[in-house]
This record gives sequence, C-alpha cells and structure tokens, in this order.
Amino acid sequence: MRVGILNSFKRQFSTSRCLSSVKPQICIVGAGPAGFYAAQHIVKHIPDAQVDIYERLPVPFGLVRFGVAPDHPEVKNVIHTFTKTAEQKNVRFLGNINLGTDVSVKELQNAYHSVLLTYGADENRRLNIPGENLDNVLSARNVVGWYNGTPWDKNLKIDLSGDTAAIIGQGNVAMDVARILLTPIDELKSTDITQYALEQIAASRIKMVHLIGRRGPLQAAFTIKELREMLKLNGLNTSFNRDDFFGIDKLVHSLPRPKKRITELMLNSIDVKKPGATKDFVLNFLRSPVEFLPKAGQSERSQVGCVKLAINILRGEDYTKEVAIATSQIETLDCDLAITSIGYKSVQADNEIPFDQKKGVVINSNYKVVDNFYASGWLATGPTGVILTTMSNAFATADVMTKEINSAIDKLPLKPGFEVIEHALKARNVQMVTWKDWEKIDEYEQQEGKKVGKPREKIVDIQEMLKIAA
Ligand code: FAD
Ligand code: NAP
Repeated sequence: MRVGILNSFKRQFSTSRCLSSVKPQICIVGAGPAGFYAAQHIVKHIPDAQVDIYERLPVPFGLVRFGVAPDHPEVKNVIHTFTKTAEQKNVRFLGNINLGTDVSVKELQNAYHSVLLTYGADENRRLNIPGENLDNVLSARNVVGWYNGTPWDKNLKIDLSGDTAAIIGQGNVAMDVARILLTPIDELKSTDITQYALEQIAASRIKMVHLIGRRGPLQAAFTIKELREMLKLNGLNTSFNRDDFFGIDKLVHSLPRPKKRITELMLNSIDVKKPGATKDFVLNFLRSPVEFLPKAGQSERSQVGCVKLAINILRGEDYTKEVAIATSQIETLDCDLAITSIGYKSVQADNEIPFDQKKGVVINSNYKVVDNFYASGWLATGPTGVILTTMSNAFATADVMTKEINSAIDKLPLKPGFEVIEHALKARNVQMVTWKDWEKIDEYEQQEGKKVGKPREKIVDIQEMLKIAA
C-alpha cells in the first residue's frame, strides 16, 4: 500500500522541473525547541517554503512541557514564540505522528526537499551497576515525566514513604528533582504539576535529599541560580562536606568568573541552618555508586535500602579535565529512594538514520547528516544545553538548510510534501492532530486548571487528548 501511493506520486511529479515556482517543501520531525526555532528561521529566510512539523504526541513543545520544572513557569514563556511560528500560514503542526512507526525517513525524504530531525533525547543513561533494578531505584527522566505528565510515566511506581532520597548526578535535572521533593507543598499547588504527583508529594515523608557527584565542587554541573534557589527554600537546611573542598579555597581567586562565583557560594554555604527547618539537602562530592542494596531482610527484587559509594580522587591536568578515580574505600548511604540523574540519551527512531549508538546521537557534521537531511537540538548535539543553546544550534542548522535551498531554488524538482504522507497516514488509520486540535486540548487543560487555581491541568492520557482533539 505504502509503495503504491508513493509510486503514483512519483509518476505524477517525477522528472518534471519548474524553473521558479516550485514551493520548497520542508519537513521537521519533533515539535520541541529545536523544531520550532528551526521552523521560525526557515520561514523567515524562505518565505515561500511550506514547513511541516511532525510530532509523535498530540501536544507540542517537547521538554518545555515535559521537562522544565513546574515551579519555573517563566521558562515556559518560549511557548508564545513557538505558537506565533505555528500560526504562520505556511507552517503546519502534525501531531500524533511517530517517526519510525507511523511514517519512515525514506517516505519523508521522498516527499520533501529537506528533512530535519529534531526529535530530542528519549531515553536515559544507566549506571549499569548491581541493584539498579531494585524497586524505588528510578531514573530522573521518569520522575520528571511523572510530575510533568508524560503519558508513559503517569503510573510510575514511586514510594515516598521513607525519609531519605539519594540522587546520583549533580546536573540541573538532579537539582530540579531535589527541589520538587523538598519544596513546601503549598508552593507547588499553584503550578502545572500533575494532580496525582501533587497528592503523592503532599503525603511524602522524604525529609533528607542527598545529591551525589562523582567529581568535586569545581566540576559540579548545576548552575548558580539553581543552587541559590535551594538555599532560599523555606524550611530547608543545606550542607556540604567541608573535606570535599580541601585546597579549593586557595585557588578560588584564580577561577574564571562564573566558576569563581558558584564556588564562593558553596564555600559560604557549607552549613546553612534555618530556624524551624524540617528538611535537609546534602551535597556530596567525590562519590561514585557501585551497588544498590535492598532493605535489610528483603530479597534481591525488593525495595532499595542503601547505596554503596566508592570514594574517588581526581586526576587530570586542570579542573576542567579532571576525572574521578575510585579508591578502594567504600562507604554506605542508607536511602529509601534512589534516583539516577546522569543524563538523557537519544534513540535511533528509524534504521535509515545514521546513528552513533555509543554517544546516542545522529551522526552529523555541523548538523548535516547527508544531502538534504539534517539533525539538530539534543538529537544532534547530545543531551546538554539549555533552551538558548538549543535555539542557537537550531538557527545554525536552519541557516545551512535555507542557504542550500535558496542556492538551488531555480532547479528544485516538484515534491508532493504532506499530500503524499497524508494519504499514507490515512491508509494506516493514524489520527492526525492539527494546531487547531491542539488549541482545543490547550483550552480544555487551562479550563480544568482554573477550577483548582493552576495554570493548567495537563491531560496525561493520549486517548483522552485524541478524544478532545477530535
Ligand atoms: P525536545 O525538547 O526533547 O523535543 C523533541 C520533540 O520530539 C518532543 O516533542 C518529542 O515528543 C518529539 N519526538 C520524539 N520522538 C519522536 C518521533 N519518533 N517522532 C516524532 N516526534 C518525536 N532548559 C532551560 O533553558 N531551562 C530549564 O528550566 C530547563 N529545564 C529542563 C528540565 C529537564 C528535566 C530537562 C531534561 C531539560 C531542561 N532544559 C531546560 C533543557 C531544554 O529542555 C532543552 O535544551 C531542549 O528541550 C532541547 O530541545 P529539543 O528540541 O532538542 O528536544
Ligand atoms: P548534565 O548537566 O550533563 O549533568 C549530568 C550529571 O551526571 C553530572 O553531574 C555528571 O557528572 C553526572 N554523571 C554522568 N555520568 C555519570 C556516571 N556514570 N556516574 C556518576 N555520575 C555521572 O545533565 P542533566 O542534569 O541531565 O541536564 C541536561 C541539560 O539540561 C543541562 O545542560 C542542564 O543545564 C539543562 N537543564 C537546565 C535546567 C535549568 O536551566 N534550570 C534544568 C534542567 C536541565 P560528570 O560531570 O562527572 O560527568
């Protein structure tokens, strides 16, 4: 069926060439920041182009909706810019279409002049140590998805009835998760956090969260704004282990400014106690997990009870290149919940995509995969960088794409674009979600949110989203 439809379009459009009136057909896969920023740049520089954004979910915005913490609403303002792009007459949002199952890369390449993949990082790195499969050893990606309403994380089995959580990794995702677990519940109630997460966090008994880094304070991946936020959190004490800072006070003056400022803040916050505080946030450096063990007296498949940590030393030329080397010294940290936050990872959505399995990125040279085929955002760069970083690389990618299209504009062969894909999707019974459909979902979520004083109550079930969209 697929081949039949394609062939009929190929016959129709095959060798015919038009000298100037061919509309450039451009396809983007992934409606996150990289996808929207690339679309914005393309329509600005090729006003005649038709830009189609395919998205697996019925709802747009990627990690802006499903990653950014609910208590950081200001970060989500980028949604207004994305909405303006989506509302342009030559931009089309096509939700609920999954690359790899509903449509293939080959089909997109046949239908469009240019294909850009921006489908992000859908998996997480694993520690690959014993005990990682115990109950209540969770990945931060799933925990974030749980409180932010990613449809496949809504039933995450998370037990918050113990008092101590250990988070492995010291990036901003680890900070987000720690903050959500430690924030007074009244401060979360007016955010767009999912209702079920809010209820479970309200009943949480977690009083102490450890953030565990394998390297030292100079290599901490979190940023100063996120640390300040923790230091200001109501009812929370914060502490560091002074021994982890051995020698650092002597070289702090020689550090570049941003590193100097965050290091000074840590040195000035070794033990911050607030009157009446009931919760503790502890940052541990130079520790690598080697094994998670079950609670005493429980079998291998039961709930985590502690994590064994190797004590590390650092080796390397300067602090930016230092690596952690485990010593034979081991210490044990009791915990009732363990969350690994050591980075996300992309997947190969379709066998036709040249993919580096080890790095978890699409193989590309400056965002170009092969002719007329590009990748950008976390899928191309790896899973680091804030929205602004992603914006810069999406603009850079779109710049290469637009220059290539514009330089060949008089020689573009006719391409069918969405028309041929729409036929195929209909034959496969895929319910497409348009921008107007998303607006219905958006309106519904906002109305539901209003009833409980939240900006929105996210729908977390794909079938329910599709029902509203229809
Ligand atoms: P994504 O945002 O992941 O978008 C990819 C899109 O592709 C998604 O919509 C996804 O559904 C879709 N997709 C996936 N697979 C397919 C498929 N097979 N077919 C079709 N579509 C598909 N940055 C900040 O500046 N501030 C913050 O506060 C902040 N908080 C963050 C919190 C977390 C937990 C995380 C993980 C990141 C955060 N970031 C933050 C970073 C920011 O989210 C990223 O820089 C940015 O989202 C990367 O954009 P992207 O478009 O590459 O990927
Ligand atoms: P990240 O910043 O790369 O941090 C990953 C952490 O995991 C680092 O501390 C890293 O330590 C550690 N790690 C990696 N492999 C490990 C291993 N095998 N064992 C132990 N520790 C390991 O990644 P992230 O936290 O997932 O964040 C991704 C991006 O999103 C970042 O750019 C972040 O700034 C951004 N983000 C921003 C915000 C915000 O602006 N508020 C919020 C969330 C996310 P090493 O340094 O030693 O490798």
